[in-house]
Amino acid sequence: MPERTISDRAMPDRVMIEIDRVTRSYGAFKALDDANLTIREGEFFSLLGPSGCGKTTLLRMIAGFDNPTSGTIAVDGQPMAGIPANRRPTNMVFQSYAIFPHLNVEQNVAYGLKRLKLGKAEEKRRVEEALAQVSLTGLGKRGATELSGGQRQRVALARALVMRPKVLLLDEPLSALDKKLREQMQVELRRLQKAVGITFVLVTHDQYEALAMSDRIAVMFGGRIAQVDSPKDIYQRPVNRQVADFLGGMNFVRADIVEETGTSLTVDTLGFGRVRTDKPPAFARNGDGATLGIRPERLRVLWDDETSEFEVAGEVVERHYFGEVTHLIVRIPGFEAPLSVIETNDFGADDLPIGETIRIAYDPEALVAMAD
Ligand code: ATP
Repeated sequence: MPERTISDRAMPDRVMIEIDRVTRSYGAFKALDDANLTIREGEFFSLLGPSGCGKTTLLRMIAGFDNPTSGTIAVDGQPMAGIPANRRPTNMVFQSYAIFPHLNVEQNVAYGLKRLKLGKAEEKRRVEEALAQVSLTGLGKRGATELSGGQRQRVALARALVMRPKVLLLDEPLSALDKKLREQMQVELRRLQKAVGITFVLVTHDQYEALAMSDRIAVMFGGRIAQVDSPKDIYQRPVNRQVADFLGGMNFVRADIVEETGTSLTVDTLGFGRVRTDKPPAFARNGDGATLGIRPERLRVLWDDETSEFEVAGEVVERHYFGEVTHLIVRIPGFEAPLSVIETNDFGADDLPIGETIRIAYDPEALVAMAD
């Protein structure tokens, strides 16, 4: 038998959650519209989208707090229809944490275990194990009201983990924390998920959070799933402008399709001229037009005598300083909108005068074609 790689082990192909044609209607309004999704065992999976896109609706239906109007949900091969939330192999960590203020940390974590009647010693062992997993060892006797936001978040996590669910559902669990703590918890949560090996499904509207933590992401808009991919593919190969825009800055250029093969597209653009790019697997042609996108950080200022096979020239019209990088807005003849360029400050982008003509190199590999 061939040796398995680490990524094989981290992400086996066994299906943990199967969402099959699930719709949730409220009268004529569809909060979720014909969603299909397969989440694998051991995956850190994120549902990402703007407010109101239906991500919480989907999470709540997996948890059993709501039911599909049509379609089916199976967890670990078992259809969930008719199974109440407390009998499902899932556990949810709420945005509000929902910690009992009158109980101490230990009692909060042990709460759900009571009905399993494990016996005092086993219960204690499980609570201690869960507290260690979230780095709260020694804080068991602390009152729930005597904790920081980050610690309360950990208690909520421990309380869910102690039940040893097959799936942990997390509804914006970090949104109440300040930026620095949130970033620290993102790293910890990711580490924890890999250590316990439980399938995590995270709901978030924060694209950086989803990119930093997930094995795969489903991007949702208006009750529909627009794209399911790895963070890198979602960011670098968005299927349309809406996904590209939601995942951070992107320069868009109108393009006319000249030739399409199974794997490539040749397009004519005003600004970049004729360009041949890889055809994204999900590209669905809609007429002869398309959009070409390039991320601002994939454009680079050419200094002094430096040249590139792929360069354009234009005038700096705006400059915004962000500490480690400077954001330049550059008007270039032939482009319908100014290009946005993110440049590190080591060569002096932070000092470029407004009105200066500069040359910009682009990497044709970084140009991505999107269907209209
Ligand atoms: P947020 O990040 O704001 O929580 P979301 O993507 O999680 O947004 P959902 O909570 O899933 O969005 O809601 C999806 C849509 O369904 C929203 O337009 C919401 O107003 C609507 N909706 C949710 N619950 C109900 C309900 N009980 N009755 C009517 N409409 C509802």
